[in-house]
Amino acid sequence: MPLGLSHVVLNAPSLEELNKAVAFYNNLGFQTLSPTKEGDVWLKLPAKCSQNATDLTLRILISTVDLSPRPTLEEDWSRLSGGLVLLSNDLEKRKSHLNSIDAKYQEYAEDGELYTLDPLNNVIVFTDRPALPNLLDLPQIDSNSSKKDHAVPRKIAVLTSGGDAAGMNASVRAVVRYGISKGCHVYGVYEGYQGLVDGGDRIRRMDWKSVRGWLSVGGTSIGTARCMPFKTREGRLRAAENLVHHGIDSLIVCGGDGSLTGADVFRSEWPGLLDELKKANRITEEDATTYGHLTIVGLVGSIDNDMAGTDITIGAVTSLHRICESVDSIGTTALSHSRAFVIEVMGRHCGWLALMAGIATGADFVFIPERPPMEDDWESTMCAVAHRHRMLGKRKTVIIVAEGAIDKSLKPIRPEYIKDILTDRLGLDTRVTTLGHTQRGGSPAAFDRILATIQGVASVDAVLRSTPETPSPLIGMTSNKVTCGPLMKAVELTHEVAKAIGEKNFARAMELRDPQFAEEFNAYTASTILDDESDLLPAHLRLRIGIVHMGAPAGGMNAATRTAVRYALNRGHTPFAIFNGFPGLVHGSIEELTWIGVDGWISHGGSELGTNRAVPGEDVDMGMVAYQLQKFNIQALMIVGGFEAFSGLIKLNEAREKYPSLCIPIGLIPATVSNNVPGTDFSLGSDTSLNSIINACDSIMQSARSSRRRVFVVEVQGGMSGYLAVEGGLATGANTVYIPEEGIKLERLQSDVRHLMALYLDDDADKSEGRIILRNEKASKTYTTDVISNILKDEGRGLFDSRTAVLGHIQQGNTPSPMDRIHATRLAMRCIDFIEQHTGAALEKAHLLVAVVGLTGAEVHFPSVKELVPKADLANRKPNKAWWFEHRDLVDLLSGRGLFTPEAQESLKQQ
Ligand code: ADP
Repeated sequence: MPLGLSHVVLNAPSLEELNKAVAFYNNLGFQTLSPTKEGDVWLKLPAKCSQNATDLTLRILISTVDLSPRPTLEEDWSRLSGGLVLLSNDLEKRKSHLNSIDAKYQEYAEDGELYTLDPLNNVIVFTDRPALPNLLDLPQIDSNSSKKDHAVPRKIAVLTSGGDAAGMNASVRAVVRYGISKGCHVYGVYEGYQGLVDGGDRIRRMDWKSVRGWLSVGGTSIGTARCMPFKTREGRLRAAENLVHHGIDSLIVCGGDGSLTGADVFRSEWPGLLDELKKANRITEEDATTYGHLTIVGLVGSIDNDMAGTDITIGAVTSLHRICESVDSIGTTALSHSRAFVIEVMGRHCGWLALMAGIATGADFVFIPERPPMEDDWESTMCAVAHRHRMLGKRKTVIIVAEGAIDKSLKPIRPEYIKDILTDRLGLDTRVTTLGHTQRGGSPAAFDRILATIQGVASVDAVLRSTPETPSPLIGMTSNKVTCGPLMKAVELTHEVAKAIGEKNFARAMELRDPQFAEEFNAYTASTILDDESDLLPAHLRLRIGIVHMGAPAGGMNAATRTAVRYALNRGHTPFAIFNGFPGLVHGSIEELTWIGVDGWISHGGSELGTNRAVPGEDVDMGMVAYQLQKFNIQALMIVGGFEAFSGLIKLNEAREKYPSLCIPIGLIPATVSNNVPGTDFSLGSDTSLNSIINACDSIMQSARSSRRRVFVVEVQGGMSGYLAVEGGLATGANTVYIPEEGIKLERLQSDVRHLMALYLDDDADKSEGRIILRNEKASKTYTTDVISNILKDEGRGLFDSRTAVLGHIQQGNTPSPMDRIHATRLAMRCIDFIEQHTGAALEKAHLLVAVVGLTGAEVHFPSVKELVPKADLANRKPNKAWWFEHRDLVDLLSGRGLFTPEAQESLKQQ
């Protein structure tokens, strides 16, 4: 086939016509592929039969389309469009064959062409001149095609090492695909460093398709191993030799601190290793010069989140998901039997998993290595806390212990010992649960898929930027931004934590963890453990605080309320629930909240208080709002909600001049799946929603893949914000996304159809691949989800089918994700702090009273509503600038769009 067209689909109106067509093509030399399905037959014409460049796959399937009228012999068949072009070096022989099967033909001898018709009225051209244009004019994907920006392509190897972590696959996928799009040759090293030491087929060139579907797969598909030989110089010598023999000049290592230490050792030894190999004649002089520098880039894949130089490691959040699922489940049995559970979680020398699990599940006590209990008799303190909680009405006690937990004299704290204490001193029916390896596994959470993807991309960029002079970088994440710092320094600092703990310098150990760690630890103790009246404010500073939910439900609303209530009570305030939003306030639906009343809310989805979209000053009379606040003597408000809540905040701020009872501190904790509240990078509920989307899309993909070649147009929420579509698209490996920020144009749809056709043409003939497009609900008024799906169906020319899936309210999620619970806890506590700090503010500072409690990067800030209004697009209900928009192009690029740029097409033609 000219220009490498390799797959063609023909439509037959009935089984009878289909069988005739199959017989006709069999006669031409096409072989029917098994297994055959009635009404959908695949045939193959081996390249050698027609002297084509590639094998030709022909698919004939029954469709509802009528046959076009059969051209008569009087017509000029060379003017008919569409059909197959086959090379034939002996047209005379071809003619006699056609005669023998009684097929009519037209001959254009001067052009070296013979035209005939198949039973489905498609024209077939036999030619002895191979320069005919490609009839479908679609480029094929060459997975290893490279933009020719380097004379010699960079050869990058990627390996995963140490303990497996969810998201490692996503990072390998990103490295492979982004690397290819940048013109590099990418190699997968199987079985971690062992593969490097062994060489051979453990170092394999990866192509675009080799990583398809990897985003949702847990663990690592290229394998990992603990490799003793790599710890020896002889092992590293062999590893260096193998890299040189493969012509590899860069190595991306995804692993924990051990693996990255190994990478750092390898880097520092590299010149010496090459020298030794050269002297032993294991590599040539030329090789030693060409590969004189090895670029090493580190990606941190570790469930422990124990690496310095990054706030979070790939796999830690998924692990936290698994822990929280288990602790939530254990919680129900504990509650039923009024039991105590001591749960040991992983984390080696790092307490991140244990602390975060403690926060996210509302555990009564947590033991971590960085901050051992400071008391000599910590057993009594723990018992006092558990007892107090029991006295307040709790029926369950949950203690979380990090596997590396120690007391202040470095003696390990073991779960069995805690169990004995609780049983003996409090008489509690206590059980120990060690979660073990369940914590490692499973499909990665949305957060890890996105983190691993953007870091994988950054690691390739780091390779391309590197020079022999630049130190090896470590790709990290600090304050929600991908960073690229020195690997060596990060490794050193990481080892310092263990050293500081060993020296009992716990303050230093805490300092070496990321800054939120200490804040979160304080949030945990202040809202859980210090409920012994030790944290009470003097009576005159105690406030009556109203809590109200606004807008649609979002995961984490209840968690925020729970923490606010408990922390407020610990400080001596009185928290009030305002039921059913501002209409509820107007009706006086206000009730005091108690410590035990919010028990269990940390894991409850939806809104326990009831939420309402009505905006004060618009849908609800502001005078009545002010009146009720005054009547109940509410001295501060905590609002939990989305953009309606932000609009309400503006109205409340404006009305303060008129109503003195509104001159109180008001903090808004952003909570909406759309993540469109100005003043924050993340809203509560958006992470829960992303996880619901990826779960739904994983199921949809499975269905699509199992049945037939299908493109699902999945409609997601988000209002006028494309956050869920873009981040969901990145996390599910969507083919593309439609978002309101861009709208949808006809040209765009056309190019998307062409791209999908090219992808399906390139798929293996006997595989049915599913693909997904995410469309935000408001991306276009004209091109609705149904319209797009119908266009794809019609324009797919039988190559693929299309269906829609509108996820709707599923996206609000069931139980909130751990990240939403943790953010909720932190923001709620800071909101109460904000309220305390701004009570009785001087009038000139009054504008600071009404603020969003927002996350900027990893830090909590309190931008006032006055400051935020100019930064908001009020008409479209979103901030003017969205940090996530920089991920938009990555979705298309990682689905193969980069290979279809005009220059890539040109480069394909030249190959
Ligand atoms: P993790 O990367 O999860 O911390 P390990 O500590 O087990 O896991 O390290 C994984 C692998 O990295 C080891 O099996 C070994 O091959 C390599 N490695 C670890 N430390 C070193 C070192 N100091 N020198 C060379 N290789 C090392």
